Amino acid sequence: PAAPTVVGNRERVQVVVRCRPISERELTAGHKCCISIDTERRTVEVHNVGGRFAADNIPKSFTFDRVYNEKSTQRQIYKDVAYSIVHSVMCGYNGTVLAYGQTASGKTYTMEGCDHSPDLWGIIPNAFEHIFQHIRQSQSSDSFLVRISYLEIYNEEIRDLLSPATSKKLELKESVETGVYVKNLTSLTVNSFADIRQLLMLGKKNRAIGATAMNQDSSRSHSIFTITVESSTCDPTGGKTHVRVGKLNLVDLAGSERLSKTGATGERFKEMTKINWSLSALGNVISALVDGKSSHIPYRDSKLTRLLQDSLGGNTRTVMVANIGPADYNYEESISTLRYANRAK
Ligand code: ADP
Ligand code: MG
Repeated sequence: PAAPTVVGNRERVQVVVRCRPISERELTAGHKCCISIDTERRTVEVHNVGGRFAADNIPKSFTFDRVYNEKSTQRQIYKDVAYSIVHSVMCGYNGTVLAYGQTASGKTYTMEGCDHSPDLWGIIPNAFEHIFQHIRQSQSSDSFLVRISYLEIYNEEIRDLLSPATSKKLELKESVETGVYVKNLTSLTVNSFADIRQLLMLGKKNRAIGATAMNQDSSRSHSIFTITVESSTCDPTGGKTHVRVGKLNLVDLAGSERLSKTGATGERFKEMTKINWSLSALGNVISALVDGKSSHIPYRDSKLTRLLQDSLGGNTRTVMVANIGPADYNYEESISTLRYANRAK
């Protein structure tokens, strides 16, 4: 397959918004929908239902690269948002998909989806399927090596989700040859869709066990599932092998809810300060990349951005899916998510 042509920053960093359906529980509680989405005009409006929040009743309107309402399907999201990034990873480029939003806005639904039907698969299982399908259909002279790793960043500490010693903190290192890497992080070779899915499940289980053991809340951590695809093509004439390596990072970010909302104190407060810090560091990096004018991209400000350094900016593709809930009690959080996403675009 032909390598993707070099594109401008505008195309390399995309920000889309997805609004989930209102839930039964929200309806029962009498909540109203305060979001309207215009997919043609690519706008999201937030209405101050009942005038309860701000002093004005003017809807707040935001425009994005694409916007998705509650009817958007998992397949549509994959096709529009992730497909071409995964394709370019198969061609040796790096790419990153990030899900942003407050807790319960649909980040995990977007990234992982539901297991029981392929129609409900999120971006991660669809990417697995895509990669192995590509491999099955490739020329016999091409060979592929797919490796995965899975980690979480909690409180600016890195933990391996594929190791039984999940509580061990790992260090970020940097070397001239490999750039930034996590020392001693488990990296496993996978040969099939089933292999990779099993490891995703194992990592999720380890994440939950670790969180319980350490009395932590996993919505407060970032998880990063990384798939590295190494392909070698044997040149039939000279017998020379050409090796390409692409890396795909699938990131389910910590809940973006603001401190003031949660009334957190003590350790929880400290934790949340770090989460807000790392989310704002990410926002700063993305907006510096999109802006294209800054010579300095502040990757070093957080573990998350340092870790993703070689997959954000440069010759890589990034998409952020900002997730929001439609209900009016989330008015302020939704505006804050849209402002964040708007700054990143
Ligand atoms: P988060 O990971 O942001 O905390 P979840 O992905 O767990 O949020 O979503 C919260 C709830 O809403 C879950 O029960 C999930 O299944 C449901 N949900 C989220 N997005 C959608 C969607 N687009 N369509 C249907 N249900 C959704
Ligand atoms: Mg989640």
